[in-house]
Amino acid sequence: MPFAQVHSGPDVFEVKVPFANVSTSATNCFVVMDGGEALVVDTGAPTDEGAAVLDASLDELGIDRARATFFLTHLHLDHAGLVDRIVPDGAPVLMSAVDFEAARASRASTAFDASRRRLLAEGVGAGDASGYARYAVEPPLFDPGRVRATFVSEGDEVAVGRFRFRVIEVPGHTPGHLALFEPDSGVLFGGDHVLFVISPGIALFPDGADALQAYLDSLAKVRALGCSRLFVSHGEPRDDFAERIDWLDAHHRERLEEAAGIVAAGPGLTGEQVIRRIKWNVPHGRWEDISFVQRWCILMEGLVILDHLVDRGRIRREVGEDGLRRYF
Ligand SMILES: [Zn+2]
Repeated sequence: MPFAQVHSGPDVFEVKVPFANVSTSATNCFVVMDGGEALVVDTGAPTDEGAAVLDASLDELGIDRARATFFLTHLHLDHAGLVDRIVPDGAPVLMSAVDFEAARASRASTAFDASRRRLLAEGVGAGDASGYARYAVEPPLFDPGRVRATFVSEGDEVAVGRFRFRVIEVPGHTPGHLALFEPDSGVLFGGDHVLFVISPGIALFPDGADALQAYLDSLAKVRALGCSRLFVSHGEPRDDFAERIDWLDAHHRERLEEAAGIVAAGPGLTGEQVIRRIKWNVPHGRWEDISFVQRWCILMEGLVILDHLVDRGRIRREVGEDGLRRYF
């Protein structure tokens, strides 16, 4: 069976939509059903196999897609990638306006150049910078002229039968990441905000805001909700999510200290040099042994750390006559 019931009151079904990635093998999509109404949380990555699994599950659950509510926690390929194959024409899809704008901006002709310029300024070589910058340009996730992109934000309610889910903004993994919380049952759909299989990546925000601070604030916010059940988008749910939130918070604070220590010990390093000296949780001998896409992930995460430290006044960024940014 492609889906399993994982909660009752409200009834929640989990559909594992296959997606082979660096660290996960599926996106957990959720279907909430009550009083003949249905809410579908996320859709999965755009593969034939994934579409077949989600299709079969929605059919078997007897979901009338023309009447169902579709909700996206964030606009990443493995969450929003099946919208065009699952959501009927003209149906509303609830999502974040912030993520919608960020996704649109990433497709702009300037996105590649902006990313490449930033990487060059941080000391990345010209060849690598062009390669990495290609990842900054995201493919379109769905046709916004076909479905009805309906923007929701903090405090908005999404009703399913007797249950009222509240939209919670948890920026960090993406600038507009959303969670859904049902206060009576304590059920929280957390998307990729808190995961057990990996420490979720943090995005560089298009407006230059401190993404790491946003993520840490979002962790504290979810901790304070006091949810009783957290459903995660990758891997299995666990009961020790409060401890996991504390661990993620401590993990980022330790890495901030480590990066600040590297800058203090080697004033004048470029961004890339600082980032390469951080101990990343990727087993490797040489930097070149890490896969190119994973090196890009590390660089993005590293820039988020450097931006945060600069923003907080912990370190100073100076631009030399050669155009390189150096850290002190
Ligand atoms: Zn994601």
